[in-house]
Amino acid sequence: MIRIFKLQKPTELTDALVAQLTAEYIQTEKSVWKKPYIERALLESSYEKCAYCECKLNVESKYMEVEHFQHKDGYPLLVVDWDNLLPSCKRCNGTKNNHDTVIHPIVNPSRENPREHLYLRNYRFHGLTQVGEETIEVLDLNNTSKVAYPRFEISQLIAGKIEGLLDKCKDYLQNKSTRSANKVKKIVKNIMEEGHPAQAYAGTVATEIIFNPQFSEIIDILKMEHLWDEESENLWVAITSIAFTNKKKPLTA
Ligand SMILES: [Zn+2]
Repeated sequence: MIRIFKLQKPTELTDALVAQLTAEYIQTEKSVWKKPYIERALLESSYEKCAYCECKLNVESKYMEVEHFQHKDGYPLLVVDWDNLLPSCKRCNGTKNNHDTVIHPIVNPSRENPREHLYLRNYRFHGLTQVGEETIEVLDLNNTSKVAYPRFEISQLIAGKIEGLLDKCKDYLQNKSTRSANKVKKIVKNIMEEGHPAQAYAGTVATEIIFNPQFSEIIDILKMEHLWDEESENLWVAITSIAFTNKKKPLTA
């Protein structure tokens, strides 16, 4: 889960239409939120990812459900309230079900930064706060096969790439050719791009990168050899802005 920045309310969703759709829902319980312009704006707001587990929603077998942060049965007046809607996968939406976020708050990633409530260690989330603990329970955010294993898999993939890159850095130090310098620069950027907020499980990938001791070694080599440029620095800043801490202490950055 990472902070998401929702687009403005779709222009089609005027106050008059919101009132009309809300009344229709109260009368008929129809899925009045199922509008292409609502779904499109929600998907664009989260790089087509689930706002909770960060799985990609634009792939085969996954599709977006409109999630009502304050559930629609208890809060029917918010059924098409733009601020109450989030893009979610079927699993997270179903798992959260009718949990009352007013009585027992959980993290709303469009309103607050999940990093303030959660930390990530061994591919599992833990609470920094009571809200964080509640979020993990309500969304089953450590479900082994559905979310913890995908986090493990992608972390292993990145760790393997970092290991290969360190070997290439050492090769570079032996020959210092332009060709191997360019190769190293390209790979380091590719790895950091995988922790960009647009990527699946970006929060996990970013955390893996910043706490990977081999990656720190690589950065030191690149800086020493003047191969760490502004683009690398910008990618690094983007990653550190979404990475989780890995232990129970308040974030300093
Ligand atoms: Zn999800």
